Amino acid sequence: MTSDILPGHPHFAYRGNALFGEDVRLGELAQTYGTPLFVYSKAAMLSALAAYQRGLAGRDAKICYAMKANSSLGVLQVFAQAGCGFDIVSGGELARVLAAGGEAQKIIFSGVGKTRAEMRQALAAGIGCFNVESEAELEVLSSVASAMALRAPVSIRVNPNIDPKTHPYISTGLKGNKFGVAHEDALRIYQRAASLKGLQVIGIDCHIGSQITDTAPYLDAMDRVLDLVATIEAAGMPLAHLDFGGGLGIDYKHDTPPAADVLWRLLLAKLDARGYGKRKLMIEPGRSLVGNAGVCLTEVLYLKPGEQKNFCIIDAAMNDLPRPALYQAFHAIVPVTLPEQEVPDAAKTRYDVVGPVCESGDWIGHDRALRVAAGDYLAVLSAGAYCMSMASNYNSRGRAAEILVDRNQFHIIRQRESIADQMRGEILIDASHA
Ligand SMILES: *Cc1c(COP(=O)(O)O)cnc(C)c1O
Repeated sequence: MTSDILPGHPHFAYRGNALFGEDVRLGELAQTYGTPLFVYSKAAMLSALAAYQRGLAGRDAKICYAMKANSSLGVLQVFAQAGCGFDIVSGGELARVLAAGGEAQKIIFSGVGKTRAEMRQALAAGIGCFNVESEAELEVLSSVASAMALRAPVSIRVNPNIDPKTHPYISTGLKGNKFGVAHEDALRIYQRAASLKGLQVIGIDCHIGSQITDTAPYLDAMDRVLDLVATIEAAGMPLAHLDFGGGLGIDYKHDTPPAADVLWRLLLAKLDARGYGKRKLMIEPGRSLVGNAGVCLTEVLYLKPGEQKNFCIIDAAMNDLPRPALYQAFHAIVPVTLPEQEVPDAAKTRYDVVGPVCESGDWIGHDRALRVAAGDYLAVLSAGAYCMSMASNYNSRGRAAEILVDRNQFHIIRQRESIADQMRGEILIDASHA
């Protein structure tokens, strides 16, 4: 029996001709539960987490899973049970963490557009920290907390003006984008925060982007943040914790991001050298904890050969896997069952792999060499992050089901969305008034 591990996916492998997630045969899951179907490996999530834990071992550090990457309750439960905190960006995410058994005290609330209602909800729950992204938000948060006779714990997200050289839509630490406060304004805004009655300043935060595959932007950002920490503390405002955000990339297509423990060894060496090694640390990884812990199984519906292009039409679409349409992102696509004999590339056909949605942007992979027939199952890889959490009902397609694999067991963590689920809450106008 061969065991051929998929690149970047240590817990997904071919045994013989069949693709497995841990010890579960994926073709059987597709057959039984239908497609499109997301399958996640618990061991893959925990081993991604373990790399951060190793890197931060012996430090006073808190890992807050940035749950927008994948906010399904069954996924949150894995991280809550592993002791993680959570980085949230909405009141909905707060409710999900609490429903999945996460602790309010370990929650940090990021995002540029928190509403007063969300602030009240988070204060009432007793979250650990608000990562405030503008001066205007500081004023509002202070007044909301004061009205509740509370002081909101805050850190301010500073913008280190570092280019992480990723896609412009996922780069967040540059001057021209909407996140954080400018480096030059940080001291003045900290002074303002310290003067507001409803706030308790406890930290500083930065997050420079996503799918970062190099250590240099992190090291540069850390230097910029530590410069600010020195300035802010010299002005009499102690910062109990330093939050360095998330953003570490994963291997989608021969990407070679540093391992989390390797990255943190370098960052901790810098922290130690600058005298901040004993400080309480927080990080907010999202994609790197879940991205390569999931695949999306899909069935080939039709092959449509053409003069210029061949299309492989699958039953997963941009509403399930939005990253290609949004950012021209790459997902590897592999067969769930390998042919009996190895097929040379010359015997494969090149296809654009597309979904059924009525948009030309609805493609999942361009120019892929495949040997497939209608009815075959394919696995779209690296589908654990920013897929299901971004899924929509566009074209009135129900959202996919999700399964969490744990060794030879599996758990359905989300049922396929029914048409009734989709229409729930919609109201026809009474005919007598129409
Ligand atoms: C999205 C986000 C993260 C996580 O980013 P990843 O690239 O998924 O690790 C962390 N912090 C903040 C503030 C975010 O917006």
